[in-house]
Amino acid sequence: MEINRRDFMKLLGGSLAGLALGGAAGTMIKLPGSMEKVLYSGPRIESWKLTACTKCPGGCSLKVRLIDNFPIQVSGNPISPVNMGGICSMGLASIAGLYHPSRLTGPVKKENGKFIPISYDEAYKILSDELNKIISEKKQDDVFLIAQTESRLRAGMFKKFSKETGFKNLILDNFGMNSNSAYNKISVEAPDFIDFDKCDYILNFGSQMIENSINPLYYTRKLIEHRSKGFKITSIQPKLTPGITKSDNWIPLLPVSYASLAMGIAYILLKDEKYDKSYVDKYFSGFSEFKQYVLDNFYPDKVEELTGVPSDKILQTGREFEDASAPAAYFDEAVLYNSNGTYNALAIIALNALKGFKGFAAIKENFLSSLLENEKEPAETISFVKLKDQLTGNKPVQVLIISGSNFVFNNPGQDALKKQLSSIPFVVSFSSFVDETSTFAHLIIPDHDDFEKIDLLSDESMGIPVITAQQPVVSPFYNTIDTCDILISLMKDLKPGIKLSFQNYADYIKQAAQKIYSGHEGILLDQEKPTVIEKGLQKIGWNTEQYTNFDDYWDGLWGAGGWWNPFASKESYNAKIDFKETFTEGSFLSKSPINPLKNKKLHLNIYKKNLDYKGSMSIYAVLVEQFGSRWSLFYQLWAEINPDTAAGLSATDRSKVILRTNNGKFPAVLIYNPTVMPGNIDVPFGLGHTLIGDNSGINPLAYSDDLFDKQSGLASFSETPVEILTVSQGSSLSDSQVITNEKELIETKIRSIYA
Ligand code: SF4
Repeated sequence: MEINRRDFMKLLGGSLAGLALGGAAGTMIKLPGSMEKVLYSGPRIESWKLTACTKCPGGCSLKVRLIDNFPIQVSGNPISPVNMGGICSMGLASIAGLYHPSRLTGPVKKENGKFIPISYDEAYKILSDELNKIISEKKQDDVFLIAQTESRLRAGMFKKFSKETGFKNLILDNFGMNSNSAYNKISVEAPDFIDFDKCDYILNFGSQMIENSINPLYYTRKLIEHRSKGFKITSIQPKLTPGITKSDNWIPLLPVSYASLAMGIAYILLKDEKYDKSYVDKYFSGFSEFKQYVLDNFYPDKVEELTGVPSDKILQTGREFEDASAPAAYFDEAVLYNSNGTYNALAIIALNALKGFKGFAAIKENFLSSLLENEKEPAETISFVKLKDQLTGNKPVQVLIISGSNFVFNNPGQDALKKQLSSIPFVVSFSSFVDETSTFAHLIIPDHDDFEKIDLLSDESMGIPVITAQQPVVSPFYNTIDTCDILISLMKDLKPGIKLSFQNYADYIKQAAQKIYSGHEGILLDQEKPTVIEKGLQKIGWNTEQYTNFDDYWDGLWGAGGWWNPFASKESYNAKIDFKETFTEGSFLSKSPINPLKNKKLHLNIYKKNLDYKGSMSIYAVLVEQFGSRWSLFYQLWAEINPDTAAGLSATDRSKVILRTNNGKFPAVLIYNPTVMPGNIDVPFGLGHTLIGDNSGINPLAYSDDLFDKQSGLASFSETPVEILTVSQGSSLSDSQVITNEKELIETKIRSIYA
């Protein structure tokens, strides 16, 4: 049953409809026909359920309002320590996925280039036969799995599947994994969290902490608190975004040059002899070589040339960092999205090591490792590079298994990637939609929507372990299945005799809850914190818990929305760092400094819009308008340019232009923005879906050079040269005129903006 916009507005009030006002016409939601009668005629019974938001790694607890069991409105769970009743626009619109008009209603297989519906049994047989064939031919190395999930228990299930079946090429693409990849490279445990209570200065490299991070709503509260104590935040990134405006200082720099700036700041610390000598002696192998290299190569004038940051600013920032008693140089996956990404992160880690890592901490007796017990010998995960290498090399990829990732949309080099995907003999996807990636599948077995799933989302980024309970808010609308249940069935079929302690994913979750219960630590979200006397009694073996058995606890978990341990002990983070192994001459230098002052080229700087780190916001009709709200420009791509750069090119504000890269031309509306780094053309990422949503705008990655970090496999979002072509009235892409690169960019004029 399809419902158009008018019906939709009539039937569903509340926040979802509010966001849809003025939205695109056409079908807004889809529901199984069997639900039609109840939807139109009632009896209009209201109920509420708690679940979790999975739209970003934050894991906020949600309160869902249902009428006749139809979820119609979402708000934040006020007792959750993560979001304390808060919610962002993505969370607010999270029920849109359940009703999305493009949702697949059951498994499909491709025949003569078209998807045709099949039963689940047939779909499962096709999949297990293919994988059995691969195993009997001993070709497991030619199978790749790509999974995008922010749930650590789900990621754990993928690892278990990979280990048990011998399909070792597992690519886990999630925020935490990506952010920690640089630490893994130097065989160092990443810190569990940033300890805001112990940190008196934050030098933030590129992270959108309050918009697009591991825990946006918690970070928002903590950063406000941090600043109210008089502590400073300096943020460094090419673009001034709404999140960065909450900092005390913003330092714009040229894309790909984070590593050089971090080394420039290290230079100040080393020159002033204001680093933590005892820490360095103890934990920093290869320090003297490192010191010499930094002093030889990263003096302020040189770093100014590499980064575009004036040398006096570098000096000032270095002095602030060295004078703080517990500074943290913070970064997350944001700095990794260029060809120098891993070295950006390594340089920032090195900068922290010079000050003894006081701003970071770990949780004592890591709670998650006990929860993920079956990961004691975790399967190794690999990066996207290995898949790319195998796709372009002589060794074939026989099977590709895709879960939750739309990597064709999220990567450059799309034409080549599409061609390579078309040549894989068997591709299976668990996507809920036919999207830009799953369209290459031979078989799609759609996953449940998040509102139909069970999970426990675990998080330690607040310095305490928190579990947000994700309970199914509705029974599955369609013939879909939880992907982890397919993995469990496959493990049993592909490895006869395997002993699994769980029958299905719900069982697995219940066992995880049992581990928390038997740990006798922490409390359900709605419980009173134990008194000192109760804590004392607990220590000598008394049971002071407010539930009598596991069944009570299990029910309470869903009724409260989760569990936390406000008493978890923290410990300081003293990672031992060995740079001898990884330190190579020149590795911290920007490989291709993007300096418009030198080469007079513009660069396409693709930035992630707040909260849309995977580019999926615009597939929801209720969010597509939010996308362009800052510029009141909807359903089309815009390109932000520094007015001084634009003046040199005779390009006027709000003019329609054509942008040209080595990979083609595309239209955009030019927007003057004085906070754009001179020489950059900043365009948002997330528009331009071609197979899902209303196809608004353009995906700039489709026109980007295929550059990526060879270590992490993450794509470069900021190194593609671009030109602006004029478009006169009535002209087309083919007769537009080049106006970029013909005028001189005047250095002093550009610099004056940042003085
Ligand atoms: S911050 Fe993240 S988890 Fe919280 S509501 Fe927004 S998208 Fe969902």
